[in-house]
Amino acid sequence: MIGLVAATENGRRRARHLARAWPDARLYGGRPGEAVRRAWGECGGLVLFMATGAAVRLVAPLLSDKRRDPGVVCVDDAGRHAVSLCGGHGGGANALARRVAGALGAGPVITTASEALGVPALDSLGAELGFRIEEGSDLAAVGAALVGGETVRLVSERRWPLGPLPENVVRSGEPEPPLILISDRAADPPRPAVVYRPPSLVAGVGCSRGAGAEEILGLLRSALQGARLSPKSLCALASVEAKRGERGLLEAAESLGVPLRLFPAQRLARQPAPNPSRAVERAVGTPSVAEAAVLACGATLLVEKRRSKNATVAVGRLPVRGRLYIVGLGPGDEGLLPPLARRALSRAELVVGLERYVGRIRHLLRPGTRVATPPLGEEVERARLALEEARAGGSAALVSGGDAGVYGMASPALELAGEEVEVEVVPGITAAQAASALLGAPLGHDHCALSLSDLLTPWEVIERRLRAVAEADLVVSLYNPRSGGRGWQLERARRILLERRPPETPVGVVRNAFREGQRVALTSLGSLRTGEADMNTIVVVGSSRTRVRAGRMVTPRGYAG
Ligand code: SAH
Repeated sequence: MIGLVAATENGRRRARHLARAWPDARLYGGRPGEAVRRAWGECGGLVLFMATGAAVRLVAPLLSDKRRDPGVVCVDDAGRHAVSLCGGHGGGANALARRVAGALGAGPVITTASEALGVPALDSLGAELGFRIEEGSDLAAVGAALVGGETVRLVSERRWPLGPLPENVVRSGEPEPPLILISDRAADPPRPAVVYRPPSLVAGVGCSRGAGAEEILGLLRSALQGARLSPKSLCALASVEAKRGERGLLEAAESLGVPLRLFPAQRLARQPAPNPSRAVERAVGTPSVAEAAVLACGATLLVEKRRSKNATVAVGRLPVRGRLYIVGLGPGDEGLLPPLARRALSRAELVVGLERYVGRIRHLLRPGTRVATPPLGEEVERARLALEEARAGGSAALVSGGDAGVYGMASPALELAGEEVEVEVVPGITAAQAASALLGAPLGHDHCALSLSDLLTPWEVIERRLRAVAEADLVVSLYNPRSGGRGWQLERARRILLERRPPETPVGVVRNAFREGQRVALTSLGSLRTGEADMNTIVVVGSSRTRVRAGRMVTPRGYAG
């Protein structure tokens, strides 16, 4: 919940605007001091419409801990600045300041050093990967070194998809301070150091009916301790399906704050567990539960089965899953690049795509991001490069124009990718949508897309589909209508469509939609001059219902009336 408190009439007007616009915002009326105190206890973020001086005085007595206090944003009476006052990272005030600024047309004012310098903040490094910070880490000292440009060493046994890091962060085998250490092992690093616990360990658990949570947790603790592993890196318990309702096991998972993954006995029976047991096999149908459950999670075994009176545990380490972002960049105009695409690009350590697309978004990449631009035609090579980076535990973005899933890089990449990488596909605005918007509303009823490129599809197949489209009376967007080497396909397509559609059928021809050189023309199937199309053109052919109204191409929504 976001609490809104205003001290003046101007402030109240803006606060009311936010309260109406944001479902998660609530106005706190009454005297400002009293309102701030009430909101403090109930809200994760506060927006105070008053001078920073007044805000500081009201908030000061309430501050206790930057990890728990709500983030506070302060908006001046003229509504020009949204100042992130305190709780910038942990309290979310920096993000809230940007959100307020966006909604009020103000400028966000953010003064935390890491943000101002574009350096990743240590308290959120790896947060989206599930990293947890070890207690007692020297966040302030290492953060100061990072912002001050000192060399900070990053020691990690394995590579994680952290995104591009500042140049002064140097990967190293030597734990020299100031240090960032990523490890699931017990550690006593030289200081100052920030220790991150990645979610890399799973514990397999077997138990007899009625085994208590305390017994399971005790056994697990001693197994981790014995192997010098950090309980903070534990990210799941795993067991056999038959234990679905087992109280002690459920309680143990809950108290650790991790999910319980259950596998059918047959699946566990197939795992090559090192310490099988006949008795267990007779009881639950698999010779191993704890060890086999670890292996079934895809982990490698670090701690073989240990037992207490009523329970067994084994511990394993999961492989790192790198990230592959597949990002559609839209037709060209940066305004049509969604925030999720920007976020993915800023998290990529390697960006792969054609130069014409990568060139558009270079300025959105963080310093340190590498770029690869293999030439046109090498789709598989491009997909392979990006995948290689993700498989090595890095993060890569594969970019396409328009939508990456429409005649783009998503399918060649996903044909190659397995479960070893995490994939995020960010949708983009495809050429048909962009052209449709410029033409009017030609896609208002049933429609489809065809590519006229016969490089990867035999022309007979394309021709058959064109006839089917004509027969089905669909609006069709023709991608790849023509290129330097392919001259006749669009004319042939026009003739095929004319067999079933009248010459006056409206046709929209859009070249370079939403980018330099944009040209929009309305014509008809009878007078379409196919020689004028090129590889930057998309041709939208109407159905029997499509009309031109006031110079706009419109396909009515329905057939009724
Ligand atoms: N993934 C892209 C399509 C790639 S196929 C998308 O979703 O848009 C390439 C074809 O798309 C081009 O030959 C052209 O027909 C069409 N195209 C892509 N961008 C375009 C634009 N800005 N204006 C017009 N046509 C475009």
